[in-house]
Amino acid sequence: MSKISTPFEEVNARVENAAKYLDLKPGTVKALQSCEREVVISIPLRNDDDVQVLQGYRVQHSSARGPRKGGIRFHEEVNLEEVRALASLMSWKTALIDVPFGGAKGGVTVDPSKLTEIQKEEIIRRWTRSLVNVLGHHRDIPAPDMGTNSKTMAWLMDEFHRLEGFQPACVTGKPIELFGALGREEATGRGVAQIAGAALEKLDMKIKNAKVVIQGFGNVGKFAALTCAEMGMKVIAVSDLNGAKFSKTGFEISNLFNKNPSEFPGEEIDPDDLLELECDVLIPAALGGVITEINAEKLKCALLVEGANQPTSIAADKELRTKGVTIVPDILANAGGVMGSYFEWTQNIQEFSWPIDKFRRELDARMGKAFASVYKVAKKYEVDLRTAAMILAVGRVAEAMQMRGSLV
Ligand code: NAD
Repeated sequence: MSKISTPFEEVNARVENAAKYLDLKPGTVKALQSCEREVVISIPLRNDDDVQVLQGYRVQHSSARGPRKGGIRFHEEVNLEEVRALASLMSWKTALIDVPFGGAKGGVTVDPSKLTEIQKEEIIRRWTRSLVNVLGHHRDIPAPDMGTNSKTMAWLMDEFHRLEGFQPACVTGKPIELFGALGREEATGRGVAQIAGAALEKLDMKIKNAKVVIQGFGNVGKFAALTCAEMGMKVIAVSDLNGAKFSKTGFEISNLFNKNPSEFPGEEIDPDDLLELECDVLIPAALGGVITEINAEKLKCALLVEGANQPTSIAADKELRTKGVTIVPDILANAGGVMGSYFEWTQNIQEFSWPIDKFRRELDARMGKAFASVYKVAKKYEVDLRTAAMILAVGRVAEAMQMRGSLV
């Protein structure tokens, strides 16, 4: 791959790199870099006296290892190339943590902050109706992502049920009262913290009092902060869209959990400077593309744990590794979310629900196992954790495709 200019090309460059270690043939690599199906839809949305037409997407990257799985995002910058990248990342994530899913992603190009609740409901119902033939608990299972939440998933499920009958496993991330799973909400952030702990141990660093900096205090950032604090780490800086705070002694996260960082005690700092604070663990948990060749050299962390999807560019990744920073890649670090979705899907299919302690036990054990497998591959091939994670994931998907007979 010569020039990389889109997020999908970036993911595919990583696939190509992993394929070299696996000795895959060029045609197989091409198949792994292609999406199985891409559906683009129009969503007419009524306003006061006219109709606005929105663009919606569902990209199914792979079903080699099971039904496709991936969230649906409402954001004004959603576009087909980004959805392809995120769908492909889901295939690698589900393979890496060894759950029986493939990869998909969906989206609608719209600013959710400008929508009423009724409009959000209308959009997700229309999205579901247009895509009903490609969705289903054994075909493709959506979940929440940026701009959507458990309420959106309840509307999606309700629309799907009207068309296809009762199948609560058709979507995950649902409200607890409506076939959701206890533990799912915290699963991504909890997994991020568990993985940070496992990586610190491998680096011979102490978990207790390890200094943690977190960008973003939404679903991922909040629960990562809470679990890090419960594990004995010191969360010294946190930010969101409205500001950032620093505390040398660490924040009492359990008391601040429902507040915004700007309401935290401590020193106000520039959110742009947060990533450059000296710390043991840096967790970007907001947007993609925040660590680039422009700021990489200024980062002062020992460990970078990618809570967000694609927060680090390829150039920044290289620069950080040269500086000796250990990077735990997104497909491993934030895979607790899809692991939790797998538990919800399993419970829905079995029509049985787990208590939260079982959910947490299973999540912690399986995330620990995934980290250990990636670490082992990194040692075997003498590569960084991102390359190791991709070797493991790409190898599993390629093997499934070959066994199914779709590749020679
Ligand atoms: P969210 O919308 O709940 O929270 C995002 C947070 O980031 C908010 O606090 C927001 O204020 C903050 N933010 C936005 N722009 C910022 C900026 N420029 N500087 C500082 N903070 C900023 O989203 P989320 O569900 O927590 O997802 C965060 C990231 O994690 C996304 O990249 C998402 O794709 C990824 N992710 C989420 C899950 C999940 O289960 N929620 C799973 C895997 C990956």
